[in-house]
Amino acid sequence: MENRELWERLNMDLAKHDEFLAPLPQVFTELFLNRKNRPAAMGYFDAVVGDVHGIRVHELFAMKEAGAKVFSTFCVYVPEEIVVATGSASIGLCAGAQFTVSSGEKLLPRNLCPLIKSTMGFKLDRICPYFQVSDWVIGETTCDGKKKAWEILNEYIPTYVMDLPQKKDAKDAQLWEEEVREFAAFIERETKVDLTAENLAQGIEKINNKRQALQRLASLRKHNPAPIHGLDVLVINQLAFFDDPVRFAAQVNALCDELDVRVKEGVGVAPADAPRILLTGTPQPLPNWKLHALIEQTGAVVVGEETCTGERYYKDMTEPADNVTDMLANIAKRPLKVNCACFTPNQGRIEDISYMAKNLQADAVIDCTLQFCQPYGVESYFVGRAMEGTIPYLRLETDFSAEDQGQLLTRIEALIEMIRA
Ligand code: SF4
Ligand code: SF4
Repeated sequence: MENRELWERLNMDLAKHDEFLAPLPQVFTELFLNRKNRPAAMGYFDAVVGDVHGIRVHELFAMKEAGAKVFSTFCVYVPEEIVVATGSASIGLCAGAQFTVSSGEKLLPRNLCPLIKSTMGFKLDRICPYFQVSDWVIGETTCDGKKKAWEILNEYIPTYVMDLPQKKDAKDAQLWEEEVREFAAFIERETKVDLTAENLAQGIEKINNKRQALQRLASLRKHNPAPIHGLDVLVINQLAFFDDPVRFAAQVNALCDELDVRVKEGVGVAPADAPRILLTGTPQPLPNWKLHALIEQTGAVVVGEETCTGERYYKDMTEPADNVTDMLANIAKRPLKVNCACFTPNQGRIEDISYMAKNLQADAVIDCTLQFCQPYGVESYFVGRAMEGTIPYLRLETDFSAEDQGQLLTRIEALIEMIRA
């Protein structure tokens, strides 16, 4: 089946979809393909982006025809291992496009985080085949904006909401474990597949392998000169949320093999004195590449992301166990190690940033918050205070539009000049 036929069968608005995708090839060529000295193994990821609404959507559609279900998630706390164990698909759908923000604003307040408005807009506009192929959205009670948006989204697509606690005390951990068990029962009901020690162990292993591959890639970035651009790693991290986990892990490992050689030979994508930047803050969902592109345009290199499109997604593994009960307990434990600003207190995130800055030999930390994101915006106070006097620090606020690019670039350039001085 051709892509267009598939999109029609998924009830997409083809004219609007054409309009949305039209600029992508040029943008991707300018930002990615035209860069010199990219690893050859980026070819796979380039091909996935090149056909971003094609191959993988066909796969998901075929899975559904064979009886599986597709579950869309919007947060790294949702345990994809459980879905994968049943042979169904879990795809991360956070959206990072300005194109759909105005549609989202038809139902949502304008002064709401663009990530939520963009996501809603993709569903209203029917231009995301991943949304269209999904049977369920799995929401969660993280920030207030998302929590309330699920109620509206539920009118367009069935939306299941996981109740995530706001603190990490023993009683919160217990509540979350119960929530994970209820979610597991929901997935069993929906997929008509029982979780067994065997299939759940396989689900855990597949997702752990994916996370391990991403960890391996992240740790290669601590070398100087940096063997890969931050922008390339960002796109890989973004694809991690919806590619097939087994194939994806193999491709990331193949890339790491190539980078191992680069490191051994002292080959980098930037000179050894290029300023090294650690980015922290809100996630950068596909296709939002703005900040990485601006930072690397100055000659600096992004060496790490303390974000959910970075370290927070893959830094912890799910411990294996012998039986389903213990496996579900371990599945519940892993995400509670993730330090999202939706939790209070969230001192662990400050420790993560400090550790990453040191481990990655960063020269500066850029803390970037999406406009109207209250949890990360408020938490910037603690991030700034912890960085003060230890490492150059810049706080930025932005959205998905191109309007503030000049202003952002000026501020980033000033930081880079200060580092170089
Ligand atoms: S920033 Fe927080 S709410 Fe957003 S995806 Fe990450 S963990 Fe979930
Ligand atoms: S970026 Fe902030 S406001 Fe937006 S969805 Fe994530 S936590 Fe919520």
